[in-house]
Amino acid sequence: MKKNEKEAASLAYKTESAAKTMSEKEIRLAFDFAKGYMDFINKSKTERDAVREILNKASAVGYTPYVYSKKYKPGEKVFFNNRSKAAILVIFGKKTVDNGVKIMASHIDSPRLDLKPSPLYEEGHIGFFKTHYYGGIKKYQWPTIQLALHGTVVRADGTSVDIEIGEDENDPVFYVNDLLPHLDRNLAQKKASDFIPAESLNLVAGSLLAKDEEKDPIKLNILSILKEKYDICEEDLLTSELCAVPAAKARDVGLDRSMIAAYAHDDKVCAYPSLAVMLEADKTPEYTTVCVFADKEETGSNSNTGLDTNYLYDLIADIADTQKVNVRKTWYMTKCLSADVNACYDPNFPEVFEKLNSAYINHGVVLTKYTGGGGKSSTNDATAEFFAEIRGILNRDKVCWQSAELGKTDVGGGGTVAKYIAKLNADVIDIGVPVLSMHAPVEVISKLDLYSTYLAFKAFCKD
Ligand code: MN
Ligand code: MN
Repeated sequence: MKKNEKEAASLAYKTESAAKTMSEKEIRLAFDFAKGYMDFINKSKTERDAVREILNKASAVGYTPYVYSKKYKPGEKVFFNNRSKAAILVIFGKKTVDNGVKIMASHIDSPRLDLKPSPLYEEGHIGFFKTHYYGGIKKYQWPTIQLALHGTVVRADGTSVDIEIGEDENDPVFYVNDLLPHLDRNLAQKKASDFIPAESLNLVAGSLLAKDEEKDPIKLNILSILKEKYDICEEDLLTSELCAVPAAKARDVGLDRSMIAAYAHDDKVCAYPSLAVMLEADKTPEYTTVCVFADKEETGSNSNTGLDTNYLYDLIADIADTQKVNVRKTWYMTKCLSADVNACYDPNFPEVFEKLNSAYINHGVVLTKYTGGGGKSSTNDATAEFFAEIRGILNRDKVCWQSAELGKTDVGGGGTVAKYIAKLNADVIDIGVPVLSMHAPVEVISKLDLYSTYLAFKAFCKD
């Protein structure tokens, strides 16, 4: 290489495939890490499943339930369980929290079909559950796949029963019908959003009947099965949260097994590496480290388990109170990685991507300075200073990373929990794994990108 070529090479920003830059050993480590992730994601399809998995793992390594107003010592590890749908893990640092807190915040809810409060009916000799879709889905992707039902039913006396049907291969599954092509001649005239209307996203739930019933015998037969198996009645379904999710398990993709196809990579693929860092932490950090697993991101972060509410603020404020330090200063000094996915450049649909500012598969964890739509509306725009700080940390620890926006400016957009954390006056930037077919029932990610994300979180939490 000539001298001026060399200079030009070091002057230019370029990203490289981790498949090139990672050693054989690192690639093996990445593949091993992916095994743990695949096991986690198979058991964590809904936010309730994820909270259960996260708290089981955290309890096993010494995290204890957070007690309001209790003063904790440096090195102590606690978890805050927000209504079994969101969770926060904390490792207390040597410094008081007004020196700043390090937060990693992902979300554990994913797009799916929720059962409506009154879901059960029969028509045309088939029993159905009506659904209400949750999050941003392309509705036509959900018919004709095998669906499992996950959730909880709460009886009027406050007792509850957890339900999971369709994960064991001997379980039955549920199914949304689609129109056969022979009778769908108008398909060419239809808009994709009209292929399947929301009110047709009904789960096939049975076809046998209660023999001595005149009215709704199929519905009554299903109700009697529910009574027998779970001791619940139809009114109990009103006070339930039952979610239909793809029954498929995570699988390797490609002859080289370099990728993973699974339901709900968004955003378990960021939740898991942040959890891994919290679980393996073995020394007292300088700064208090906080790991948030939020609910309701896919519907706008509202409700008392979403981050557009006070539970994260209140927990940190409570800790600041016990340490007798200023909570406002605490938030001003706080640094947060909003751990969420970005779109992976897809050569099948190049028209929606702007090549200079896209995330490419295997090119590592992606830093997203701002999200939102159009003229940066509804965004968290990380300061150049904070982006530079994180970039410096990743370069220091030789983490494979890249920078991207979410698609072409005029094409669409999206948001994350970042803006709700920015509202608390912390520094925050989006960081995560690039995903192919985001929000589809089965999404694809790369194992090297997953591992780079883990290394990025580890670097961030290092003193
Ligand atoms: Mn997400
Ligand atoms: Mn999403």
